Amino acid sequence: MTDDAKTKYDVIVVGGGISGAMAGIGAARAGAKVLVVEQYGFLGGMLTAAGVGPMMTFHAGDEQVIQGSTGELIDRLEKKGQSPGHVFDTTGFTYTVTPFDVEGMKRELELMLTESGGEVLFHAMLASVEVNEGRVESITVCTKSGLMQLRAEVFVDATGDADVAFHAGVECTKGRESDGACQPMTMKMRMMNVDIQEIREYIKNNPDEFPRLEGDVNKVDKGARLSIGGFVKTLAKGRAAGDFSFPREDVLFFEANGEGEVIVNTTRILGFDSNDPWSFSLAEMEGRRQSLEVDRFLKKYIPGFGNSVLVYTGPQIGVRSSRQIKGRYTLTGPDIHSRKSFPDTIAHTGYPVDIHSPDGEGTAHVKPEWGTFCSIPYRCLVNEQVRNLISVGRCISVDFEAQAAVRTTPTMGAVGQAGGIASALAVRYSLQIGEVNPEQLREELQRQGSFLA
Ligand SMILES: Cc1cc2nc3c(=O)[nH]c(=O)nc-3n(C[C@H](O)[C@H](O)[C@H](O)COP(=O)(O)OP(=O)(O)OC[C@H]3O[C@@H](n4cnc5c(N)ncnc54)[C@H](O)[C@@H]3O)c2cc1C
Repeated sequence: MTDDAKTKYDVIVVGGGISGAMAGIGAARAGAKVLVVEQYGFLGGMLTAAGVGPMMTFHAGDEQVIQGSTGELIDRLEKKGQSPGHVFDTTGFTYTVTPFDVEGMKRELELMLTESGGEVLFHAMLASVEVNEGRVESITVCTKSGLMQLRAEVFVDATGDADVAFHAGVECTKGRESDGACQPMTMKMRMMNVDIQEIREYIKNNPDEFPRLEGDVNKVDKGARLSIGGFVKTLAKGRAAGDFSFPREDVLFFEANGEGEVIVNTTRILGFDSNDPWSFSLAEMEGRRQSLEVDRFLKKYIPGFGNSVLVYTGPQIGVRSSRQIKGRYTLTGPDIHSRKSFPDTIAHTGYPVDIHSPDGEGTAHVKPEWGTFCSIPYRCLVNEQVRNLISVGRCISVDFEAQAAVRTTPTMGAVGQAGGIASALAVRYSLQIGEVNPEQLREELQRQGSFLA
């Protein structure tokens, strides 16, 4: 096992998804020596590994409530023609959606991290966490050169699954409070050569196929990119003919940045456990089976897909929820609905509660009142068991319903930036993670361009 000076950092972030990348950037810009460790060969997590997109949503009504480094990422992509920026959401589900080029996203995250002074170690997967008297002393990662021990003053768990926290002995919960069931996984499909104009025309001529639009089919002309959920009658017809086999109530897809490029979010993989490698492997295979079925179905039944090509399902199936840490505070569904504010708020979101049913068909959307947003307190990132470990991303301390509102990528970027800055402050002032002054953290967040109400 290797263990040398090169492996000692102020802050090590495990997981290079949107929350981990933003944590690395936030910590480095606050002056820390930072390493981001990632199991794949690129940053972006679900956005680049699982084909998730567009990012939704940076807004609450007309207000952009996600700014900071996550907002900067989009500004940079837009300048390079790799994103159209924030565009009207034609599904009628939220305010804006933000498409992007996957390859542009991978590169821009690397640039932002390294320009900020951060380093990255790709192809390194967490193997174990060494804890001594309530502190993580080191982590061991599995690499092509064997096991490697890495040391830091503070560790940030940005694995999505709370892998570091779980292995360090932090109390974790999982899924729905009543039975532990998680939201289903989805294997996203990237399709090319889709005729968007043909789809727009079909929507306008068949409003009863699109209940989410509530009769206002002209919405589909308002967005610079088309996002749509529906085709409910066509789906029922395909199911009756034996061409669609799994529980799903509508066909959902999003136009990406490139011409004729569409991300299909329609497979629904139920009953598997993403934290169990055997079950996770079976979920990948079921996702692939469903993807090829959806590909055939789209070509046969859905206008605009006749000449489409399925180009990509990504190196990993999409996981919406798994473990959550039990933190100093657990944000709840009622907190979200009441728009509860907190003195230690570090991020906001205007995204609705969006629960893909863990039981079968159905997606529960609870739309917020126009323009309102909820708040995420710093205490949701802090656990009571390990003093130098902070959690960011979708595994923070939130209940099942609240997770469904905070889990999307703009919000996770904002939470990551806050967690990274908090880690840097802990190193700078020799504090435990739980001792970081929320006022000082909010000041540094604002200095780094974040929106805080
Ligand atoms: C099917 C699906 C559709 C979605 N649709 C949207 C959408 O349209 N818009 C939107 O904004 N959000 C959407 N989301 C939500 C969003 O993608 C996630 O909630 C968000 O990406 C979470 O960010 P994260 O940084 O916490 O985790 P992730 O994006 O999962 O990143 C975690 C990173 O950690 C790495 N990692 C994990 N474990 C280890 C380990 N043990 N060792 C080393 N590295 C590790 C992973 O490779 C990954 O890079 C969707 C999610 C899914 C699954």
